[in-house]
Amino acid sequence: MICKTLVTGFPRIGENRELKRALEHYWSKTASLQELRATAAELRKRHWLFQKRQNIDFISSNDFSYYDNMLDTIVMLNAVPDRFSGIEDETERYFAMARGTAGASAMTMSKWFDTNYHYIVPELSGTLDFRLCPGKILTEYAEAKKLGVKTKINVIGPITFMGLSRASKGENPFGYASRIIPLYKELLARCAELDDTLYIQMEEPYLVKNPTAEVLALLKAAYQDLASVSSNIRIIVTSYFEHSNETTKILAETPIWGLGLDFVHGPQNIQGLKYAKGKKIFAGVVDGRNIWRNDLGASLFLLEKISDMVGREQVVVSTSCSLLHVPYSLQNEPESDIKQHLAFCCEKVEELALLGRVFRGEVVLDSDNIGMKTARSRTPSTQHDGPADIAFGERKVRAGDFAERNALQRRKFHLPKLPTTTIGSFPQTQELRRLRRDFKKRAISEEAYEQGIKTYIDDCIAFQEEIGLDVLVHGEPERNDMVEYFGEMLKGFHFTDNGWVQSYGSRCVKPPIIYGDISRTKPMTVRWISYAQRRSKKPVKGMLTGPVTILNWSFVREDIPRPLVARQIAAALCEEVADLQAAGISIIQVDEAAFREGYPLRKENVSAYERWAVDSFRLAVSSAAKETQIHTHMCYSDFTDIIKTIEAMDADVITIETARGGNRLLDVFEREGYHNEIGPGVYDIHSPRIPSEDEFEKQIFSRLEVLDGKRMWINPDCGLKTRRWEEVRPALQHMVSATRNVRLTL
Ligand code: GLN
Ligand code: ZN
Repeated sequence: MICKTLVTGFPRIGENRELKRALEHYWSKTASLQELRATAAELRKRHWLFQKRQNIDFISSNDFSYYDNMLDTIVMLNAVPDRFSGIEDETERYFAMARGTAGASAMTMSKWFDTNYHYIVPELSGTLDFRLCPGKILTEYAEAKKLGVKTKINVIGPITFMGLSRASKGENPFGYASRIIPLYKELLARCAELDDTLYIQMEEPYLVKNPTAEVLALLKAAYQDLASVSSNIRIIVTSYFEHSNETTKILAETPIWGLGLDFVHGPQNIQGLKYAKGKKIFAGVVDGRNIWRNDLGASLFLLEKISDMVGREQVVVSTSCSLLHVPYSLQNEPESDIKQHLAFCCEKVEELALLGRVFRGEVVLDSDNIGMKTARSRTPSTQHDGPADIAFGERKVRAGDFAERNALQRRKFHLPKLPTTTIGSFPQTQELRRLRRDFKKRAISEEAYEQGIKTYIDDCIAFQEEIGLDVLVHGEPERNDMVEYFGEMLKGFHFTDNGWVQSYGSRCVKPPIIYGDISRTKPMTVRWISYAQRRSKKPVKGMLTGPVTILNWSFVREDIPRPLVARQIAAALCEEVADLQAAGISIIQVDEAAFREGYPLRKENVSAYERWAVDSFRLAVSSAAKETQIHTHMCYSDFTDIIKTIEAMDADVITIETARGGNRLLDVFEREGYHNEIGPGVYDIHSPRIPSEDEFEKQIFSRLEVLDGKRMWINPDCGLKTRRWEEVRPALQHMVSATRNVRLTL
């Protein structure tokens, strides 16, 4: 058989998010486990048969998951943390690890490399009862075979598994190799019994993260071992999201069968190929991370180059990574000008099939296909004519250094010590969601909608006044999503009807598509913020989403550099800041929730990213006068190594999440000499618990052990919108009164 095509992995949530619905019904006990299993089996079948109809040669099994593939791997190795091991029922235990129970907190989630997909972080410790549980893998293989599909089996490789794990204090996760690698060997031995030839795709994206000498040595030994288990087994080691040149040479010296490489996000992979002679190369040329149609001509050219290096018969055309990160199908989208330029998962599989056939000389490419990308850049709306005064590379920053601004702002605001505030949103009630939905559907009049929003803001401001917060917010009732809201008002964005992508578990997001130059045609937030400001003598914060976050949570055009798109967004926000200021808003918060996840995977690319990301933020707030106080908010648990960059953003105040982690984060800020003002979170909004005044005092006193009270704010962590008013009201009241008590002691 001549093998032409491989799909790294297929999304499992379903064309109409069937898996999401089935999971949520099962969790809320409105559906049985049988029903959930039936939906899952139906989805697997549909997805396998679709790929088969497209004549894909390598179709995956075990790319399905009820929650997350990393969690499945934890189960495969029986690396079940002690707090869950008492749960007898397998399904119950599985979801308990993902979602927590009354008695045991959920396992942590973390972002999968630089994507917006979250995996469950394995917890390695000496007490784990490691043992192979290959059930899911073996059954799914048999299930597909019965449907006439002989799959390759996807497994997260041992190096990536350990590399992404958290080991008990002071332990090195790679120290678990001697317990984990033997289980992978056992797995391969079990798989070898399934068929004459078995293809195993070992996913090792960890290899793209500047592997250390330790990782390289471990990798070599591991795959030397694994590839020797059985002559029935053909191992493909797959990396993605960047090049993995350090490891290509090493892997080529082991008896593995093939290498999966991402030539879209790691074009440098081509250089490693000179070491890869004799190995099959699964050449990732169809982008699994973006939604633009493939430039087939360019892909074929690339495939020819790869062939020149390793020999034509060795090359199999592949997706750059799993298609998990793109929406399902364009068929569910209404007609629009940009639709012809898009390819979602199903269309990408078709592109792959076509590329495979052309590459093998079975058909010729017609001009329609070759021309697509060029056609897109010829579309008038994507021609670059962005604002002239933001030429790429030019830096625009606000006036005054922190010391000067801070002195002016103190004189202007007269805030008490430890000023109190919140991060922006207040509870999003059912009523509010209905109001927005009805207005969007035109089921209610504009007046009715606006009255609804006004009432919410009135109540929200009245509540904050009543409990005595110092800097107020309007509560964000008009926003369903912090990116979508701005995207809808800016030129250059397209919104899909059904472009859902799995974010974690049953949660999906619908990223906007940036297809053209971005510009602002009218003020976006001024009306509601000034409405709120008129209701109070205290300052009400303007609330904007930052340029880097808008960029990172969108699918971005590829005909101009990303930093330039970021600058266009920043320029639009800069106008908004100016308008807010002119309308009398004196404190403006610019959220950068996705600043951290935008970091490149490779160290050598970090400083360039930091430069343009910081520049974009500073450009966005460059219209702020010295007296205008700029806040930013970032909700990550790890600021190590990036404090200098946060400092370069030079926000007057940064709010962070510390309610769960205690002083650990603040320590990092202190140690690195960060000197602007900081608002460490003292209310853990991820928990339904309402902390007492006493607990708040303890939290605040504890923060004061690390941070000088003169530059400290008091606020909750972010996410009030996910809580109910009945929780938020008493909690914030306790927060404010506790702060008052603490002030008396300062
Ligand atoms: N202002 C937003 C809110 O409070 C910030 C959310 C975020 O950064 N994740 O919801
Ligand atoms: Zn946050």
